[in-house]
Amino acid sequence: MTVETEKPKVPKLDLKKFQAALNEKSVRDTCPMCGTNKWTYPGAPKIVGLSLPHGDIDGELYMSGMPVIHLMCQNCGFMRLHALGLYRDCFVEVDADGND
Ligand SMILES: [Zn+2]
Repeated sequence: MTVETEKPKVPKLDLKKFQAALNEKSVRDTCPMCGTNKWTYPGAPKIVGLSLPHGDIDGELYMSGMPVIHLMCQNCGFMRLHALGLYRDCFVEVDADGND
């Protein structure tokens, strides 16, 4: 008897699809701080983005906030955020170890 075990899948941002989606929306890629245009996506397997906490007027934070895709300028470190929900089609399923 053989038992097949399927590796768990995790979402991974397909950077080519993401860049195409940004281009389609005419998003400029110039860093507003330093004027260069080299961005990096500091993601990793199992980590597809950040979650911005929601807060109330008294400063109470709720950690289940808005999911975002974060990009970092390779020159000055400026971080930019895009709402993940607008780019769901840019994710692919990969093995948990990050392989396609
Ligand atoms: Zn910059």
